[in-house]
Amino acid sequence: MSQVQHNYEMEDAFRKCPVCDFDAGFNNAFERIEGSEEIRWMLVCPECQSVFDIGLRATLKK
Ligand SMILES: [Zn+2]
Repeated sequence: MSQVQHNYEMEDAFRKCPVCDFDAGFNNAFERIEGSEEIRWMLVCPECQSVFDIGLRATLKK
């Protein structure tokens, strides 16, 4: 991904973009973690395109 990626530790909620304050939700992006079955589930701000990894992980159905 070309966008700037931020690792972000979520507290009680993650509703607003910490970079630009956009607060109407995030787009999603998925990336396989190299050498793993896990998928990194990232949130992308539709306004400023910042990418956030708040620790969400997923696995794909086989
Ligand atoms: Zn933003």
